[in-house]
Amino acid sequence: MSSSAINTKCWICAERATFIEIDHANRKYYQCSAPDCGDFAISWRAEESKSDSHTFKEHLKSLANKHRGSDKVPLVTIGSDQNVKIEVINKTAL
Ligand SMILES: [Zn+2]
Repeated sequence: MSSSAINTKCWICAERATFIEIDHANRKYYQCSAPDCGDFAISWRAEESKSDSHTFKEHLKSLANKHRGSDKVPLVTIGSDQNVKIEVINKTAL
């Protein structure tokens, strides 16, 4: 995680957030300022796939909030079966 943080809006809740690009820019690691949201990492393909899914975003938001301030973070990717999956991983594994 060497690139600098970019100011943006949270992909989930549209509040003020930052992201850094990770995994050779295939994924973004968001850190959201909203108290009811949190940190999460997501691949750009998963972002595209779920951009209109309110249900998915609500689910990810509760997971991100649950792990806020911990050493764990939800990671959203497209699996080899082409389905979107969420894993909770250690931040050090990002
Ligand atoms: Zn947010």
